[in-house]
Amino acid sequence: MSTDCLFCKIAAGEIPAEKLFEDDDILAFRDISPQAPAHFLVIPKKHIQDPAGVGSDDEELIGKMMRVGSNLAKEEGISAFRLVYNNGASAGQTVFHLHMHVLGGRPFSWPPG
Ligand code: 5GP
Ligand code: ZN
Repeated sequence: MSTDCLFCKIAAGEIPAEKLFEDDDILAFRDISPQAPAHFLVIPKKHIQDPAGVGSDDEELIGKMMRVGSNLAKEEGISAFRLVYNNGASAGQTVFHLHMHVLGGRPFSWPPG
């Protein structure tokens, strides 16, 4: 746990969040500022700064994040959704604890802005 990390604090239950799924490894919770009718985040409980910080030991963890996030979208009745990881401030990353955005419930354009 990184003591000054917002998402470590959410993972530890020190800051409240609207949780959708939790196990020993990962947590899914609704984004506080949703950019689509459905917008939630899936994070590892352990602190990883960003996608570039993912190690070979984390491959199973990252697969689980994708499986659980996709299943949660389906459970919300959303079949078309977007999974987004931002890496670095100029790519839009504002919280430096790895998180996968799951966005759905409206059309999305490509390429992203
Ligand atoms: P990033 O811009 O780093 O890819 O995404 C960070 C996301 O975290 C943003 O969509 C932002 O709305 C969300 N967020 C920031 N602070 C909080 C918080 O305290 N609680 C929740 N649930 N989401 C947050
Ligand atoms: Zn953290």
